[in-house]
Amino acid sequence: MQTFLSKKARSITPYVPGEQLNSNDIIKLNTNENPYCASKKVFEAVKDNLDANLKKYPKPDGGDFRQAAANFVGVDKKNIFCGNGSDEVLAFAFQAFFDPDKNLSMPEITYSFYPVWADLYDIPIKRIPLNEDFSINEKDYFDSEAVIIANPNAPTGVALSKEKIRAILDNNAYCVVIIDEAYIEFGAESVVGLIGEYKNLLVVRTLSKSQSLAGIRAGFAIGDEALIDGLNRIKDSFNSYPINKLTSVAAAAALNDKEYYNDINNKIIKTRTWTTDKLTKLGFKVINSKTNFVFASHDKMHAKEIYSTLKENNILVRWFNNEKIDNYLRISIGTDDEMKKLINFLTSIL
Ligand code: PMP
Repeated sequence: MQTFLSKKARSITPYVPGEQLNSNDIIKLNTNENPYCASKKVFEAVKDNLDANLKKYPKPDGGDFRQAAANFVGVDKKNIFCGNGSDEVLAFAFQAFFDPDKNLSMPEITYSFYPVWADLYDIPIKRIPLNEDFSINEKDYFDSEAVIIANPNAPTGVALSKEKIRAILDNNAYCVVIIDEAYIEFGAESVVGLIGEYKNLLVVRTLSKSQSLAGIRAGFAIGDEALIDGLNRIKDSFNSYPINKLTSVAAAAALNDKEYYNDINNKIIKTRTWTTDKLTKLGFKVINSKTNFVFASHDKMHAKEIYSTLKENNILVRWFNNEKIDNYLRISIGTDDEMKKLINFLTSIL
């Protein structure tokens, strides 16, 4: 049959995001969104900017968002790159720092978008097995040709200490090491403070989880100015204005309201402890999580069956069709009420 697709478009296997079912009856615990609303200041900022200035192009560097991100993590604006969600920042980083003749080291179990970008840009990958308990052995990453690690890792939720990441950096002076801190604000230790010491460290953050703004699409990278320049080279060869004006002011307002977000994210951490305790009492093995989700398996009922039964009853969690983890469920932490409903339902079926 005739196809109009390029060889590349024919050969790739695209990433499949978690289902977005939008009925109000659904308890949605499958895409690690924050269950709480964004700060009121975000809505005020968007309203204040709904005016005739939208006829103009936005600032190419992300505008207010860039400065707010710099203040938020305590670096200079020149060390920040803003993107349309951290997925875009990561996709640019793959093109800016990785090559087809160098292996990109990543954990065997990790964010499933990484292999998709590698395939898209012809970057070979070296998948490194995790320890039995899903932790990362930092020594496996020494003397690599390129490195990407999500910290905490996804979908396991397991965190790597700052000192272990420092060891990886000390043993990889000649290649870029990307640390994806999508879930860092739920209890793990950030390595943003190391960017001054390591010119090859790029840290990536998102506002989709801890700032309750998945719908806004805002993410940013923190790194040495030369790495930021590299990202800008790719951006300016693709789309000069990835951050629209409303995203810029919304993201800035969120990052400037630390107090509100500390409150809701601490609440999520408490709910995670409660949920872990209840799941453990129900016989689940729950991996120690530093994220806004838990990764759990039960030896009496297969994860796929639990997933399907929950779905038939309007509770959506994530199950991965990957033999290494197919007996695990990734359950995002919702509100207390949502988690109580989940636990009551699981109690009734197990
Ligand atoms: N990194 C990790 C580890 C993630 O789980 C996600 C969310 N799917 C992202 C990056 C992307 O987040 P976003 O594009 O919404 O900023």
